[in-house]
Amino acid sequence: MDKETLPPHVLIFPLPLQGPVNSTVKLAELLCLSGLHVTFLVTDHIRTQLLKYSNIQSRFNSYPGFHLESIPDGLPELHPRSVDGLMELFESLKTNRTLLKDLLTSGKLSSESRRPVTCIIADGFMGYTCDVANEIGIPIIYIRTISACCLWVFFCLPKLIESGELPFAEHELDTQIKSIPGMEGFFRHRDLPLFCRSGNLEDPNLMLYLHEGTENPRAHGLILNTFDELEGPIVSQIRSFCPNLYTIGPLHSHLKFKLAGESSSSSLPSSNSLWKEDKSCIPWLDSQPPKSVIYVSFGSLAVMKKEQYIELWHGLVNSGCPFLWVVRSNSVLNGSIEIPPELSKGTEERGCIVEWAPQEEVLAHGAVGGFLTHSGWNATLESVVEGVPMICWPYFLDQQVNSRFVGEVWKLGLDMKDTCDRVIVEKMVRELMEDRRDEFRKSADQMATLANQCLMKGGSSYCNLDRLVNDIKAM
Ligand code: UDP
Repeated sequence: MDKETLPPHVLIFPLPLQGPVNSTVKLAELLCLSGLHVTFLVTDHIRTQLLKYSNIQSRFNSYPGFHLESIPDGLPELHPRSVDGLMELFESLKTNRTLLKDLLTSGKLSSESRRPVTCIIADGFMGYTCDVANEIGIPIIYIRTISACCLWVFFCLPKLIESGELPFAEHELDTQIKSIPGMEGFFRHRDLPLFCRSGNLEDPNLMLYLHEGTENPRAHGLILNTFDELEGPIVSQIRSFCPNLYTIGPLHSHLKFKLAGESSSSSLPSSNSLWKEDKSCIPWLDSQPPKSVIYVSFGSLAVMKKEQYIELWHGLVNSGCPFLWVVRSNSVLNGSIEIPPELSKGTEERGCIVEWAPQEEVLAHGAVGGFLTHSGWNATLESVVEGVPMICWPYFLDQQVNSRFVGEVWKLGLDMKDTCDRVIVEKMVRELMEDRRDEFRKSADQMATLANQCLMKGGSSYCNLDRLVNDIKAM
């Protein structure tokens, strides 16, 4: 076949972490459904985990255009790749620049039935991918899998420094920020990403994000996993830096919508877990009354002190509310926790604890009425789509920003930021699940409706995905 008549070929290269992998696999599937060829490039470590615990291979069997490829991340095999080693991972990733270039120029990714890569979609955090793309003349589009509101804060970091709002002292945590356009009047120092609290302009984490406003506009376009009805005003601010924006989220739900209209495609539910899902919590949920359960999970990276676990545990049991709690084995700092004897009866009666849950399925379950979350962006969108109100206990990165928006702008729940005290936990669970239940459910239902409408024909994310596919075809 003449290569020019073959479909365009997109290489997708996400950050090697659960959240970004989860949303970009959905994008890969959406592009395959649109008739494009996709090479999904991950690190060797992620490939091993995906093949072990997700159903990526069987799902993508139905798409002849899909190909999974991997390169090393440069870390030793036994490196834990946990939150402590994130900086090392980010540094190490830069060393695969040559490997990426070789992969793209070697001809390995093309064949008789497959064109060479015609477009790269890479995480904008890995700026070296844009250098590689420019060197070999392949158009590149960036994707960011964090919220638009946090990305906008990153863009404004230089302005915060110029205005003297960064660094700041501990006593200024509750002072309003003035120099982030669109966030005046409600956004405090406390709501900035955690690394802004170091008081040090040389902080290595701050350095990592300081140049976002110049880095992201280098690509041909920028894909965001959000939707205009949720983050429209902030998306407009980002557009002033990156005019070619594609807001096509929530990606996980976008895929479900497209699949619902495709009778021929795989009916397997999408699972992109890097850990083994414990499905035993589903029959447990089946046995609980509608909307009675608070689901508690802090994502794939957050770690906490034993004392914080104990405070949370007391608060959950004392609230009297049934709870489903994800406790990852590597989430307790310096060891493990035992159940406090005084909590064993309440936990046995009302609790279910698992190491890793099928989260999308859990949030869609009729028994779940609230989500105590770390406000990771995937978790937030998954909750928004299902109309589940949240209590936010952010850990790091975009989470401090997201939780402020959940509580103050979208009114979808309560922001528990910076406190972890059994009395507060109990009070907030009762407030979310009982006292202010109707108010939160109403706003969560309204936002869920908007999240669904934007995916329907003519909706904002629907049209933006169409535009993205057409632009890729025209490249
Ligand atoms: N997740 C899951 N099971 C769990 C906890 C999390 O499948 O027990 C998934 C969740 O659905 C989400 C992803 O892991 O898609 C975590 O991404 P997020 O952005 O919420 O947080 P991060 O892990 O990056 O902090």
